[in-house]
Amino acid sequence: MEFSFISHLHCPKCQKEYRADEIQQLCTCGSPLLVDYDLQELKKHWTPASLVGRSNDLWRYHELLPIVDPGNIVTLGEGLTPLLRMDRIGSTMGIDHLWMKDEGIIPTGSFKARGAAVGVSKAKELAVQELAMPTNGNAGAAWALYAARAGIKASIVMPVEAPVITRNECAISGANLNLVNGLISDAGKIVGQAVKEYDYLFDASTLKEPYRIEGKKTMGLEIVEQLNWKVPDVILYPTGGGVGLIGIYKALKELVELGWIEDKLPRLVAVQAEGCAPIVKAWEEGKPDSQFWEDSTTIAFGINVPKALGDFLVLEAIYKTDGCAIAIDDAALLKEQEQIARLEGVFVCPEGAATFSAARKLRESGWIKAGETVIALNTGSGIKYPETVQVEVPVLEPGERMTRG
Ligand SMILES: *Cc1c(COP(=O)(O)O)cnc(C)c1O
Ligand SMILES: [Zn+2]
Repeated sequence: MEFSFISHLHCPKCQKEYRADEIQQLCTCGSPLLVDYDLQELKKHWTPASLVGRSNDLWRYHELLPIVDPGNIVTLGEGLTPLLRMDRIGSTMGIDHLWMKDEGIIPTGSFKARGAAVGVSKAKELAVQELAMPTNGNAGAAWALYAARAGIKASIVMPVEAPVITRNECAISGANLNLVNGLISDAGKIVGQAVKEYDYLFDASTLKEPYRIEGKKTMGLEIVEQLNWKVPDVILYPTGGGVGLIGIYKALKELVELGWIEDKLPRLVAVQAEGCAPIVKAWEEGKPDSQFWEDSTTIAFGINVPKALGDFLVLEAIYKTDGCAIAIDDAALLKEQEQIARLEGVFVCPEGAATFSAARKLRESGWIKAGETVIALNTGSGIKYPETVQVEVPVLEPGERMTRG
């Protein structure tokens, strides 16, 4: 049997089709491309039982991933992260079945590892020698590290303000790193210029290469496998470029077509920061795409994306699943981050904390019902953001007595 059932790529805007065995970037119409698989053929050979005994990482779903030759896989063991019950914090919200998909323990410290593992593996398969990308930090760190493992040269451009640890991850992996006094959109323009000048340079910008969606979609596959092929009622996702949300939606649709899950998808929620909420604004206005968000700012750096290339795909996923979009302010998400650590023992990243704040607000408004099964995605480790915690504690001299809190 084939290792991958990839067939071709298609444009979700103009429906034009592209070959999957050549390097592709955007459609000629400017839209991102999506990967198609021969699901009708795959359906004949593949069942949930096929997964028994497979590797405990995202490559267990290799039929539904784009790598044709297993020899091209570049892996650090990413995937199959825990789906944890969050009963104590859930009870403070009045949600009986709250779960967290915890990406805090994945290689490189954020779920960007999924996109990088699949994206870099496919780049290797297509003989890419050198890639470039703009980033808010975590994606650049993941792609730099996976590219190092693949022997591919990486050039990364990130805002000066991006978390310092992600800068260090790029530097230590030997990537060509540039900082920009500006936003990810400014970094994107710099990379765009370089890609125009050097045609051997592969543009690995979010959604300008088609394969990172495939890596991130494995979160959707895992969530339903971990729930024993039952779909939850709600999935909350911290949305910047929205790749994870697009990916989860795509994964669920593929599973419906394979007949592995019922044809009733979870309501997908795009969670953004009040200081950068273009998708929320578009959803509130019922628009099919978003507008550039001026002077965006939030401590949840991974979701500081003023205009996403795939905004129309994010909005489609929300509309089609009866989901919603909601903005959280920084103070609320920081408070939630502390609550999660105190009640559940997990140090989540600020983006992940935002999804819990969103669940709380949506339960308060009645949009989430008490008995529903709700999944909050923690997209990375709080350890990557030490500056989110202010510590004031007593300092003792040797021999002094410990205070009692
Ligand atoms: C990139 C990132 C996000 C947003 O992911 P998108 O798929 O671009 O929407 C959320 N959380 C963290 C920690 C990130 O690094
Ligand atoms: Zn097109």
